[in-house]
Amino acid sequence: MVKAFLIKYGEIGIKGKNRHLFEDALIHQIKYALKPVEGEFLITKEQGRIYVEAQTDYDYEETLEHLKHVFGIVGICPMVQIEDRGFEQLARDVIAYLKERYEGQALTFKVHARRARKDYPMESMEINAQLGGRILEAFPLMRVDVHHPQLLLNIEIRRQIQIYSEVIPGPGGMPVGTNGKGMLLLSGGIDSPVAGYMVAKRGVKIDATYFHAPPYTSERAREKVIDLARIVAKYTGPIYLNIVNFTDIQLYIYEKCPHEELTIIMRRYMMKIAEHFAKETGSLGLITGESIGQVASQTMQSLAATNEVCTLPVYRPLIGFDKQEIIDVSEKIGTYETSILPFEDCCTIFVAKHPVTKPNLNVIKRSEQKLQEKIAELVKTAIDTTETIVVEA
Ligand code: ATP
Ligand code: MG
Repeated sequence: MVKAFLIKYGEIGIKGKNRHLFEDALIHQIKYALKPVEGEFLITKEQGRIYVEAQTDYDYEETLEHLKHVFGIVGICPMVQIEDRGFEQLARDVIAYLKERYEGQALTFKVHARRARKDYPMESMEINAQLGGRILEAFPLMRVDVHHPQLLLNIEIRRQIQIYSEVIPGPGGMPVGTNGKGMLLLSGGIDSPVAGYMVAKRGVKIDATYFHAPPYTSERAREKVIDLARIVAKYTGPIYLNIVNFTDIQLYIYEKCPHEELTIIMRRYMMKIAEHFAKETGSLGLITGESIGQVASQTMQSLAATNEVCTLPVYRPLIGFDKQEIIDVSEKIGTYETSILPFEDCCTIFVAKHPVTKPNLNVIKRSEQKLQEKIAELVKTAIDTTETIVVEA
């Protein structure tokens, strides 16, 4: 019976003191991910290993599903743990373990024993050889292959003896919280949730800002963005989501500026406001779902114009992705179905028929001068009336 999991994590770049930070953050994220799962779990760190042990009845599939959302986990190994009652009993337990999982299969195998406890009376090599012999006797279809076995049977002699052979892939990356915090500009589209996922995968905690324009954008569009944040939060932990009322700013830009420049100018104000919140709450950069050339507002010239208002770095993890590649990730992480729901995050009246594709920064800045009279006040009001909610998975 599987009651415990060995958690494998990547070790690159986590030497010395960083290793502890990495492991502690990983444990923290595992605890968070397992909170909604029924059952009690003990999560321990022991000699460079992290274990998740069920203390009560629990749902195996559900537990695995939740562990698969924790960045930093490279592999999840379901383990059977037995008491040490001598080698003969171990051999019997190993045979039973294999019967349950691989009965009747013609597999090549290798036994890989390790002793964390040197007082065990047999050495690793001897355990390998002896157990290998027993397995060959019990499973006539199986063959030994020490170089490329189809089945690698791990036997770890610790306080208890741990048996495992399966490694279920985790999402990889680094535990959220080990690489600072970033402010995601989150819309209801396909791209920005994927962008948030990708940056969070590198260990960055995510806050988010959404701009809506009621009544031009619907309540349902707002709900959709919250739903998307909730899906991303399965991977990142709780997300503080700022919901900014952008209507008056949009209307004012619409009134004063050339319509083909609307998107660029709007985007510049979104960046400014998101950066305000980022600085206020300790985010070290902005994150967007932009990718070169995807639409008029994402040409190199447009990106340069948008970028110009920011003093923090802007991370665009999808910059070199094709749309289909972004869709593939969004399907994998579970945001796609929600992203394609029809509720628009931006009203069509604010989208010009022929937007500039090569905006000239000086021209844009000249247009923005026409906003001088009221824009500072409108931005201040938008910031002051922003609603911040905590979105949890
Ligand atoms: P997405 O699929 O993320 O909506 P998109 O392909 O629709 O992206 P744009 O609408 O041009 O592209 O937006 C580019 C980026 O600007 C988005 O990925 C997002 O980071 C940010 N953004 C756009 N609209 C909003 C909004 N209403 N609120 C917050 N961020 C936004
Ligand atoms: Mg969009």
